[in-house]
Amino acid sequence: MWAILLSAGLPTFSCLITPKVKTGMHNLKREIPKVDRKARMRLPFKGRELRPVSERIRDFEEAHIHFNEQRAVEEATRCLHCPDPAPCQRACPAHNDISYALWLIEQGRFLDAARVYREKSSMPEICSRVCPHENFCEGACVRAKRGEPVLTGALETFVAEFEHKNADIVWTPGESSSKKVAIIGAGPAGLSCAERLVKYGHWVTIFDAKPAPGGLLTYGIPNFKLSKHLVFNYWDKLSHAGVEFVGNTAIGKTKTIDDLFTDGFEAVFIGVGAGVDLPMGVPGENLPGIYKATEYLIHGNVDIEYLPKNICERPHAGLRIAVIGGGDTASDCLRTALRLGAEEVVCLYRRTEKEMPCNSYDRELAREEGAKFQFLTQPIRFIPNEDGRLAQIECIQMKLGEPDEKGRRRPVPIPRSNFLVEADTAIMAIGYRPDPLIGATTPGLRTHKWGLVITDHDTGSTSRMGVFVGGDIASGPATVVTAMLAGRKAAQTIDAYLY
Ligand SMILES: Cc1cc2nc3c(=O)[nH]c(=O)nc-3n(C[C@H](O)[C@H](O)[C@H](O)COP(=O)(O)OP(=O)(O)OC[C@H]3O[C@@H](n4cnc5c(N)ncnc54)[C@H](O)[C@@H]3O)c2cc1C
Repeated sequence: MWAILLSAGLPTFSCLITPKVKTGMHNLKREIPKVDRKARMRLPFKGRELRPVSERIRDFEEAHIHFNEQRAVEEATRCLHCPDPAPCQRACPAHNDISYALWLIEQGRFLDAARVYREKSSMPEICSRVCPHENFCEGACVRAKRGEPVLTGALETFVAEFEHKNADIVWTPGESSSKKVAIIGAGPAGLSCAERLVKYGHWVTIFDAKPAPGGLLTYGIPNFKLSKHLVFNYWDKLSHAGVEFVGNTAIGKTKTIDDLFTDGFEAVFIGVGAGVDLPMGVPGENLPGIYKATEYLIHGNVDIEYLPKNICERPHAGLRIAVIGGGDTASDCLRTALRLGAEEVVCLYRRTEKEMPCNSYDRELAREEGAKFQFLTQPIRFIPNEDGRLAQIECIQMKLGEPDEKGRRRPVPIPRSNFLVEADTAIMAIGYRPDPLIGATTPGLRTHKWGLVITDHDTGSTSRMGVFVGGDIASGPATVVTAMLAGRKAAQTIDAYLY
């Protein structure tokens, strides 16, 4: 076994990868020969393979079957290698050099391709699975204009899996600076900030209100999209690099940011997300049988040992389940409810399918797995049975009115169109807001009136000296990749601040 620092030839790798096999050991010099684009346009699209519906709705395992080497090479060969920077690279929030990675995959240089992704991303194994590719790389792929895009997300997952099986990835801490940094929140923003800070040689402790690290990667995104073992593997690497995790500790309650400075931390990164479920504000919404989306997903997906003490049980399975909302979280709830054994699962949405904000691919998977959709439907009251549990939802029919400021047509109630939907369980997936706790307990930290921490998005600096921020608590609810990038950016600023 021999080790080599794979950063040779590439500027910014933070990890040591020891290959178990002798492949991909080249100094990377970005060269992509001209390809015959017309011939490539004629290559057939074979798509992604999914486990059969009857099988996948019985468990919480990943729904997709990963590419094998042959399929990966075949799919990568569909890339037309647009002039640099390619549209996929421009559309990727991390600006991954996708075209080059795909060229390396074509040559069978899978570990080299993994290095290309790791150059810009702290967590390619995670982003490749959860990124809304249709809005980013795949949406920008020129092939999508006349057919199907190159499946860049699935190829990144293949490469990350290949690397995981064939190389030992170790994050080596940089030379010790003896400076202590506290990170609040172990979601993608906090974890990626930690990954960079240990590389710079700082001592990092992450505090989180939850018992285990991962943020919404653990306590939100369902296992059939992102297996928890990937998150815990990621955490193991950080932990081996010396990052300490202090769980069950809500900063602002048990300790404040001022206390952290008193304890000797020289900088603090806030990555607490925006994970408070919005209420509907309609009568009966606290009846037994009604769940907030995240609470339901956590109950359904997370191993009991990692659940917070107050909710360590599975949710009531329910027979007729209504999921209220039209975003990605609603799709996740529909698919979770089906896996928990519900007989009938319906999504109630107040606009039409065209205005739904959720990823259309996830919606199609939910539909394929048995979810129904009822559009132009707005719940206005939850009605209990004689035992006090939810039995019916009173709804009103909507129609589409004038466009709102974002251009989406507003839903308008149709007078006297009320009707009842039978449901023993309802899940409210109508959006999130930040928790104002950190802002309220940190003097000098400027926040918006709805709780987001005000920041310079280029650096992650805040109005309070030594305090930095990134992820959903600064941007509002967004994506894993944007949170990850904000954490990396803030780490750079923190490093400069500490010297
Ligand atoms: C159900 C669901 C599904 C999603 N699916 C996708 C998807 O498929 N793809 C995608 O790209 N994005 C998805 N998102 C969005 C994505 O998960 C978030 O944008 C991302 O996780 C934000 O990262 P973050 O690090 O800012 O915060 P989070 O991941 O929310 O992590 C914040 C952490 O801070 C902790 N915390 C909060 N307050 C305190 C405190 N006072 N003290 C200590 N710790 C605290 C929390 O416990 C949590 O662990 C989804 C979101 C939800 C809710």
